[in-house]
Amino acid sequence: MGNYHGVYMAGGILLVECRGCNKRTAFTKETLPKIHQGNMDEVHTEKFRCSRCKETGVRLYAIGDMDEAKMWLAGDPLRNAKQGQFIVMPLYWIVHETDAGNRVYIREDRLPFYACIRGVIDGSLTGKFIEAHALDDKMARKIGKRARNKMMSLDDGAKLLDRIER
Ligand SMILES: [Zn+2]
Repeated sequence: MGNYHGVYMAGGILLVECRGCNKRTAFTKETLPKIHQGNMDEVHTEKFRCSRCKETGVRLYAIGDMDEAKMWLAGDPLRNAKQGQFIVMPLYWIVHETDAGNRVYIREDRLPFYACIRGVIDGSLTGKFIEAHALDDKMARKIGKRARNKMMSLDDGAKLLDRIER
């Protein structure tokens, strides 16, 4: 879940809520043709921009029930958490202690714990846990795939953040 195929599988409705002013919009495959079977493009790489306040940070949900979507658009919370799957997960900045010193590891998941576990399982993360925190959305969106799921030195991590903040 997290790509357009996932939205399609969840029922084909993508709900977008502005983090700035909470303006809500619902997309279907008619209004957002990218929602189709087999489209593995990540939804969070889409540049959403609020038409009201110009904010670019959004909350994204995928659901399948148009009645539920209409009620959500009218201001209701999503009734059923399972229907309203939160599809953009936080990106965590994780620091591990290794034989080569402390290293940074950036990975997306629901919780930092899961990000670490998945890293250890696929072999991309080694060493001993020191700390983890979530990167803010704006920053997270600018961190490309190449910088994720791999360990880097604290220096390289700091340079990456520097580049992004500029
Ligand atoms: Zn807005």
